[in-house]
Amino acid sequence: MSLKGARVVVTGGAAGIGLAMARASRDAGAHVAVCDADGAAMSAVDGEGGVIARVADVTDEAAMTGFFDAVAIALGGIDVMCANAGTGGPAGPIETLGLADWRACLSANLDGAFLACRWAAARMKAQRSGLILLTSSTAGQHGYPGRSPYATAKWGVIGLMKTLAMELGPHGVRVNALCPGAVEGPRMDRVIAMEAAAKGLSEAQTRALYVRGVSLRSWVTAEDVAATALWLASPAAARISGQAIAIDGHTETLAP
Ligand code: NAD
Repeated sequence: MSLKGARVVVTGGAAGIGLAMARASRDAGAHVAVCDADGAAMSAVDGEGGVIARVADVTDEAAMTGFFDAVAIALGGIDVMCANAGTGGPAGPIETLGLADWRACLSANLDGAFLACRWAAARMKAQRSGLILLTSSTAGQHGYPGRSPYATAKWGVIGLMKTLAMELGPHGVRVNALCPGAVEGPRMDRVIAMEAAAKGLSEAQTRALYVRGVSLRSWVTAEDVAATALWLASPAAARISGQAIAIDGHTETLAP
């Protein structure tokens, strides 16, 4: 699928889904800029070529303003905003959770999405075109016992997406959310270890539960998610807006 000449911005682009979306966009001919809070990982992305990489934490308004200023100079505008950065937050029943952890999870997932959407919306509205893709989760479509901060944040992302689709649709701008299931890789390895400890299960048992709750009985790859992002950015998806699109093998439940 060609994205030739499109200007694509990805937050949280140094690893996982964000990195896969950045690489797929670059390989499809787009001009790509990414930010990430992880400086070491960003240096590796910078070294790959074809992608503008800047260290910036999506919860830091001043840092994000600096990143967006750099994007405006380097790319001259934006056609696709992937508001992707997010963190999983703590695991455990609500009575065991701390307010600071709750706030950190909401901030990374929601403040970051707000700043990215606010900047992109102004530019896309003015040019009367564009696509905002927010990374939510199947945790933004189902209840998720033991992960209340994350589920709350990702349902919040869906609320932002639905509202912006209505605000921006009349101006020719589409807004959709990606809802990945459990993605293979280091992040889910960390999540599995955290949830196993919270539930008193082994990591193998916890891993098996994820597969049991999915109709296709499989995990997802970051490349699966990137392929859906490319399709949404293509003319084939020109009439798709306001949708929360699961890339998950059909989640039956997050509490199997
Ligand atoms: P990941 O940990 O592999 O990559 C996330 C990247 O975002 C990292 O490079 C990290 O440094 C960066 N990041 C985190 N907080 C940041 C911040 N405050 N500012 C800037 N960068 C920050 O995780 P991933 O799986 O690629 O996650 C990407 C998105 O997908 C997240 O929003 C996540 O909630 C969502 N998601 C992930 C899964 C999964 O199974 N991995 C499933 C559904 C949704």
